[in-house]
Amino acid sequence: MIVVMNVNVEEPKVEAVKDKLHQMGYKTHLIYGTARLVIGAIGQESSVAPTGIETMPGVEKVMRVMAPYKLVSREVKSDDSIIDVGGVEIGGNEIVVMAGPCAVESYEQISEIARGVQESGAQIMRGGAFKPRSSPYSFQGLEEEGLQYLAKVRSEVNLKFVTEVITPTDVELVSSYADIIQVGARNMQNYTLLRELGRSEKPVLLKRGYASTIEEWLMAAEYIMNEGNYQIILCERGIRTFENYTRNTLDISAVPIVKQLSHLPVIVDPSHSAGNWRLVSALSNAAIAAGADGILVEVHNLPDEALCDGAQSLTIENYQQMMEELKKVAVAVNRYLPLFSTKLE
Ligand code: PEP
Ligand code: MN
Repeated sequence: MIVVMNVNVEEPKVEAVKDKLHQMGYKTHLIYGTARLVIGAIGQESSVAPTGIETMPGVEKVMRVMAPYKLVSREVKSDDSIIDVGGVEIGGNEIVVMAGPCAVESYEQISEIARGVQESGAQIMRGGAFKPRSSPYSFQGLEEEGLQYLAKVRSEVNLKFVTEVITPTDVELVSSYADIIQVGARNMQNYTLLRELGRSEKPVLLKRGYASTIEEWLMAAEYIMNEGNYQIILCERGIRTFENYTRNTLDISAVPIVKQLSHLPVIVDPSHSAGNWRLVSALSNAAIAAGADGILVEVHNLPDEALCDGAQSLTIENYQQMMEELKKVAVAVNRYLPLFSTKLE
């Protein structure tokens, strides 16, 4: 249920509506749009229907939200959400590029890659310190040491960073370093982790599970939002299909679908979708053409020696070429890649 009020309504009127909803057993969320203030009233199926709210001062209308996810839906918030990551806006007109290695391997490695991608227009670097590997014998990440390298490089170059958390007990630690916390495909339905992140103040990058429907993905985002963290970026990273030429099948249609269903920004990870660096540029172009707000891409200084996902990692040079292509696609869809545009022209 949502209660729509004018965005300039006086505070006491909002408080009165909230109090009434709380008495009826609802939890409330205030969602500010450009023209209206929406109070999302979330309750168990058994909650009393909020009668009597419609006539309260300042209330324009009361509406049922038809979608199973509520707070993430366009029904609740019609304008796009823009997530501000220390001045980098995700979900606005700017295309945001997050680039870096699958895993942080050493200070030298992350430093060289970060400088390389920054020069070609990335705004955010990526690098895993806690790696959810399919095999227990594969490299599992440098853990806190990796976070320290990311933080050191951040202070040396003009980049924010995104890194994954794989367990609820590490949320505090990872939040104390990262600008954006990533939830990987394998953890998309780890509801304890999602709830914990919902109580964090950091933006969350929520990857789609490789066997999850769009609705399940949006419900996962709802878990985070329902705890009070509205800063969520959705990331399509390919789903498992019968096709085995690629590691996963990039579900490109998920981009415009999610854009219709939700106000949250959507980005695409072409690297885990493809599993092959040769496909990454084409998939990135497709993502931006389809309306994605950015990409998350794996780049390595020495892909042949990478401890993780070398086959899908671009060299710094290939990354630069990809960005040149991507810039043209961005312009064609009335978006832009700011740093790169100023550098090349
Ligand atoms: C990653 O981005 O490092 C990663 C592990 O991806 P995914 O969770 O999409 O497999
Ligand atoms: Mn990877």
